[in-house]
Amino acid sequence: MRPEILNPLFAEVDTLDGVGPKLKKPLEKLHCTRVRDVAYHWPDRFVTRRPVDNLDEASEGEQIIIAVTVTEHRSGASRRAPYRVLATDSAGNVLALTFFGRASYTAKKELPVGETRRVAGKLERYGDMLQMVHPDHVMKVDDPALGQMREPVYPLAEGLTQPRMASLAAQALDKLPALPEWIEPGMLTREKWPTWADALHSVHARDDESAKDRLAYDELLANQLAMQLVRADNRKKRGRALAGDGSMRGKLQLPFPLTGAQERSIREIEGDLQQDAPMLRLLQGDVGAGKTVVALHAMLIAVEAGAQAALLAPTELLARQHFETLREMARPTGVEVALLTGRDKGRARESILMGLMDGSIQIVVGTHAIFQETVQYRDLGLVVVDEQHRFGVSQRLQMAGKGKRPPHTLSMTATPIPRTLTLANYGEMEVSRLDELPPGRQAIDTRVVGMERLPDVVDAVGRHLASGQQAYWVCPLVRDEDGMEKPAAEQRYAVLKARFDDDVVLVHGQLDPEVKDEAMARFASGEAKLLVATTVIEVGVDVPASTLIVIEQAEKFGLAQLHQLRGRVGRGSEKSTCLLLRGEQLSETGRRRLALMRETQDGFRIAEEDLELRGGGELLGTRQSGDTPFRIATLEQMQRLMDPATSDAKLLMDRDAGLEGERGEAARILLYLHERDMGVRTLRGG
Ligand code: ADP
Ligand code: MG
Repeated sequence: MRPEILNPLFAEVDTLDGVGPKLKKPLEKLHCTRVRDVAYHWPDRFVTRRPVDNLDEASEGEQIIIAVTVTEHRSGASRRAPYRVLATDSAGNVLALTFFGRASYTAKKELPVGETRRVAGKLERYGDMLQMVHPDHVMKVDDPALGQMREPVYPLAEGLTQPRMASLAAQALDKLPALPEWIEPGMLTREKWPTWADALHSVHARDDESAKDRLAYDELLANQLAMQLVRADNRKKRGRALAGDGSMRGKLQLPFPLTGAQERSIREIEGDLQQDAPMLRLLQGDVGAGKTVVALHAMLIAVEAGAQAALLAPTELLARQHFETLREMARPTGVEVALLTGRDKGRARESILMGLMDGSIQIVVGTHAIFQETVQYRDLGLVVVDEQHRFGVSQRLQMAGKGKRPPHTLSMTATPIPRTLTLANYGEMEVSRLDELPPGRQAIDTRVVGMERLPDVVDAVGRHLASGQQAYWVCPLVRDEDGMEKPAAEQRYAVLKARFDDDVVLVHGQLDPEVKDEAMARFASGEAKLLVATTVIEVGVDVPASTLIVIEQAEKFGLAQLHQLRGRVGRGSEKSTCLLLRGEQLSETGRRRLALMRETQDGFRIAEEDLELRGGGELLGTRQSGDTPFRIATLEQMQRLMDPATSDAKLLMDRDAGLEGERGEAARILLYLHERDMGVRTLRGG
């Protein structure tokens, strides 16, 4: 149970004054659903504004506060054109207040013609006009709130204003309880970090790196501690030793010898499975390294030992592909392999559920549907999880709960994750690495091509298809005017379809699953030659006859993503090509990314540099970028603070594994505060 002291922080956000149903929505967008989230939602930056009497006193680029009288409203000539409100200052200078999109509704309401308002924002020049785009404040002249000159700038969502957000933050800060310290005192002194409450107050008031570090460290510490608690608990659990006699594996008729790395990984897994402590192993191997066959060996060991094995894939598409590959490879063994996804209904589903219950199905492949309440196994001994970084920590634990005794788990990831991320996502898991590609793979010829050469690229694709080979064409997701994500693939598909007709298929996340599957199947069978897609093909799709991949607006993708995408080709013995089409406005980082792609195919190097490039603060939004389990710690902070957090967590566990001492108690509070409480639940009194 969550410690009572945290209750005020976990109260719903609408317990704050001024939050009704209307504000809940934008707050939700900012992930502020509870008081705690508001306290952790601090300003991006601070601005110092200068109150000026008239525009002659201000300079361009300056943040000012000024009283102006509204003279005229001008709608844009088109839907995309801005909405302008013209106003004059005390000296008669004209200031244009400029609004885009829906903000114009607010402008209409708050800036009536003839009225005087104080506006605050950045003064800019547009042509021969002075303007303020989306003023940060529009207020009545006598409103006292504009008194402060240094103001926080909070990340906002539509419907919220800076003053409103600041008032909510102030209320949330008022509710901070006095929590005991969980950071080791020596560390606090060394780093000169403030206490938890002081840190939160500080980050709302000024740009305080030290306070931010402390708060990020809290989160990392909570995560690492939770990982270690789960791990320790796992070690105590008695699973079931699975010793295979080789009878099934001996029947396999693989068309290739295993690589040394595959042999080694299988031995490591076999060693773990023979223990009765449940295995927690991560199989890390670059794209095309051959993880599937390693997984098959692991699953056959389980079957030889009389147990069942399940393989969990992150998407339907991947589940289906794995199923087909595994069923084909396992055919000579006579092992029954089944596919179970959320889409299976009625009789077919019933019969699979029966088979899992009576044990006639020995291996099941599927999406998370295989772990639903209604799915019962006769004896689940091993769970293989593909691309586990897409599954949250809690999902992973839910899986561990299946089976009479906790099953062994093998996680597989194709993303060569940098060490810090491995630590964050997997804790102290055992790792097997496939660091050797199957023989005969050729380097992928990677080229960066300007968008102006699009017609040449289309011609090249035409020649490629004419020679009987297949190709991928990948487009990024783009946002339309309403901020909705829309696949650029649609448009590209239309163009390519006009030229290549039935040879082209389209796959993206917004299509009906059936439509998607059919397109995929046509491509996999070779009936269709060109697959136009979004990043849905990023992981796992395996069509060795595809030897060309075109990636449009390649700079929009992260390095790790580009690497994954490129890994779709170069899977057979044919020479493969990757064309990176670069857009027109290429940032410095964008340029470096593409150059690195041309330079190397080493996934680990690419992953490290990806973290480096993004950690450098290129993107402000990395807090919620999704590839780290963190909301507060930035990539840069992770790189700096992960190691100390990990050893601090270890130290704490060594001294007080039950978290029962004074610091242990504080650590429990920390775990709940950062919602890593599944760690606590392994403990007494958790
Ligand atoms: P990934 O690690 O990306 O999941 P896969 O398991 O899909 O890789 O394997 C990629 C391709 O390499 C498959 O076509 C597979 O049959 C082939 N393969 C796997 N192991 C070997 C090997 N030892 N020798 C040759 N080809 C192999
Ligand atoms: Mg794979």
